[in-house]
Amino acid sequence: MKPNRIPIALHQAVMSCLRAKLRQAGDYFNTTFPEPVLNYQQRGTSAGTAWLDKWEIRLNPVLLLANRDTFIDEVIPHELAHLLVFRQFGRVAPHGKQWRWMMENVLHTEPHRTHGFDLATVRTTTFHYLCGCQRHELTVRRHNRIMRGESLYRCRQCGDVLRFAGDNNPENVVE
Ligand SMILES: [Zn+2]
Ligand SMILES: [Zn+2]
Repeated sequence: MKPNRIPIALHQAVMSCLRAKLRQAGDYFNTTFPEPVLNYQQRGTSAGTAWLDKWEIRLNPVLLLANRDTFIDEVIPHELAHLLVFRQFGRVAPHGKQWRWMMENVLHTEPHRTHGFDLATVRTTTFHYLCGCQRHELTVRRHNRIMRGESLYRCRQCGDVLRFAGDNNPENVVE
């Protein structure tokens, strides 16, 4: 993994936004939600993904560094709303009425589906692969080696052979 170091002040701003929004939701539902795991492992052109079963938010470090205000104002509430919707309503359409309601009425954030970033810095062609535990982005070169039957790649965490996911996200991940 190529390191994209996030300055500590930016990480703190991200966490304080996440915690403020989580408290807002806790007040609304009169409960205390556990704090989601937040990391900077998102690759490709997505700003972030919400991993529902893992209660985890992955942010794209390259896009975060270039668009910090939009991440604080939009992306973090957007991904948190996915987790809260899953917790409150179960599996429903990713950007459906429950998600819009959560954004507007609970998190007081305009429900944008996308964030209008300039994607030039992250638009390299990669291919989505899956294992038992996460999503991987492989380069064209590795993808071609797999397609030709020359190589298999295994996940270092779970040991599964990576399998091509096409363009589809697994069901428990939303962007
Ligand atoms: Zn794995
Ligand atoms: Zn989304």
